[in-house]
Amino acid sequence: MTTPQDIIRPDVLAMTSYPVPDATGFVKLDAMENPFSLPPPLAVQLGQRLAEVALNRYPAPRPEALLGKIKQKMQVPAGCEVLLGNGSDELISMLSVACARPGAKVLAPVPGFVMYELSAKLAQLEFVGVPLKTDFTLDLDAMLAAIALHQPAIVYLAYPNNPTGTLYADADIERIIAATRHGVVVLDEAYQPFAQRSWLPRAAEFDNVLVMRTVSKLGLAGIRLGYLAGRPAWLNEIDKVRPPYNVNVLTQAATSFMLDHLDVLEAQAAELRAARTQLAQAVAQLPGMEVFPSAGNFFLVRVADAAATFEKLLAARVLIKNVSKMHPLLANCVRLTVGSPAENEQLLAALAPASP
Ligand SMILES: *Cc1c(COP(=O)(O)O)cnc(C)c1O
Repeated sequence: MTTPQDIIRPDVLAMTSYPVPDATGFVKLDAMENPFSLPPPLAVQLGQRLAEVALNRYPAPRPEALLGKIKQKMQVPAGCEVLLGNGSDELISMLSVACARPGAKVLAPVPGFVMYELSAKLAQLEFVGVPLKTDFTLDLDAMLAAIALHQPAIVYLAYPNNPTGTLYADADIERIIAATRHGVVVLDEAYQPFAQRSWLPRAAEFDNVLVMRTVSKLGLAGIRLGYLAGRPAWLNEIDKVRPPYNVNVLTQAATSFMLDHLDVLEAQAAELRAARTQLAQAVAQLPGMEVFPSAGNFFLVRVADAAATFEKLLAARVLIKNVSKMHPLLANCVRLTVGSPAENEQLLAALAPASP
């Protein structure tokens, strides 16, 4: 009798599925979601638009109108094309598969976004993690040395980084791009609406830079749309490993509609940026909490006991992310997503020491 254990790759057998906790009934501050919903009249219009979509047809192979709208609204520079993914997670996976020559490596600072490593390993690429400094800034010397030693095919730089919130110095990024002579540098700008800084205007300046974005953190995590911008010489090759109908018709229609109402999402992002400053200041006032600066819609806090803090918040029905076991540099760190004003109040109340 053949069992799955005889057939499935040993490294896959040893894995556990990506953990997504059930958040029913919780204030959900664990996944960098935008807490706001669409204004009801806009939601009704969106519903009407979606009702017109031909669900019986496969998605267009290259949705030119949508691609044109993304280029225009997101100010993709001349000389750059755009490739769509079912979330940027799928773009990361496509990059790994496309670059998986024997012995090829993927390099990124750690702690960083877990999908870079996971996706590299699934495509049987070696992952090289280069530790950040203890203040979570980039260790440029270590990065340059590791790039020289490993000659990575792909270098990921999340701008800003998750889970640390760090926005790496532009001069450091320039050095890394120049040092990555035999590879491509992917700047992951998932949090661009909150960082308000971008490498996208410069994407065509280099022959080895791609800029990755997503609509997830902007308020559309549920529709799954990521886009990769860069020179066509790169994108044409990566496109070959894209599953043919990867972005479904409802996602395409919803994206197109929301791009026409980008001001709504941008206003929500502005509100979250202001709330981030307020919340970070309030948390920093609590005894024993060290808050790290963040350019995202989240921030890292070092507490006395991360597991205890997580449990205490859970008991108060607030779900956050305990990242303390992700990497030694994150010892006793938790990651808080910035929520709505009411959610942030609830978080602060639950975090505060019990009054005597
Ligand atoms: C959330 C996140 C993404 C994932 O984006 P999706 O488009 O939802 O797949 C990518 N990169 C970083 C750094 C993130 O934190």
